[in-house]
Amino acid sequence: MDRKKMMLLIITRLRREYPVLRSALNFRNPFELLVATILSAQTTDAHVNKVTERLFKKYKKLDEYLEVSPEEFTRDVRSVNFFNNKARNILSSARMIKENFGGKVPKSMEELVSLPGVARKTANIILYNAFGMIEGIAVDTHVKRLANRLGLARYDDPLKIERDLMAITPKNEWGDLTHLLIAHGRAVCQARKPLHQKCLLADICPSRND
Ligand code: SF4
Repeated sequence: MDRKKMMLLIITRLRREYPVLRSALNFRNPFELLVATILSAQTTDAHVNKVTERLFKKYKKLDEYLEVSPEEFTRDVRSVNFFNNKARNILSSARMIKENFGGKVPKSMEELVSLPGVARKTANIILYNAFGMIEGIAVDTHVKRLANRLGLARYDDPLKIERDLMAITPKNEWGDLTHLLIAHGRAVCQARKPLHQKCLLADICPSRND
């Protein structure tokens, strides 16, 4: 099947199966989504939500991230992987947002990726989930795995996977595609043991017998 047609079929079936689409990360504003997304690298969303529940009660405004000492903030996030780097990136991003962007999380890809700890994936997530803007497709570990298993991309590099997915997906679906593939990756097409027998994509998936 032509890859564009296959993508439309995948989206239609997954949308039926996973009708409620939202980020699994809890946040109240764009900056909190930025914080949660930086913390989520190599850490489960459920754990990040536990950490941010406390964090967002303690730090309610951007300025409070500018006032805290790096040592104290690092302690606040020490239960996530790579907490030293993540703490440094969050505090540096807060400072840049204050100094360069008037205290507001910027709304363009170019400006977002200028922030420490923010690459295209995080920027795509923020643009779509905080501002409803579609610029690209956020490729996380689930999207990467499913795109390859479904034969939609054949790369390890998220940037190349994103480029291939963008070429075969209607632009208005780019934001939701990430949520749909993540939902299916968590529920059925799991990393270690994909549940081929229960999969609603098995008849069109080239990896169903792997
Ligand atoms: S058939 Fe298997 S490998 Fe293909 S999408 Fe479904 S669970 Fe994943």
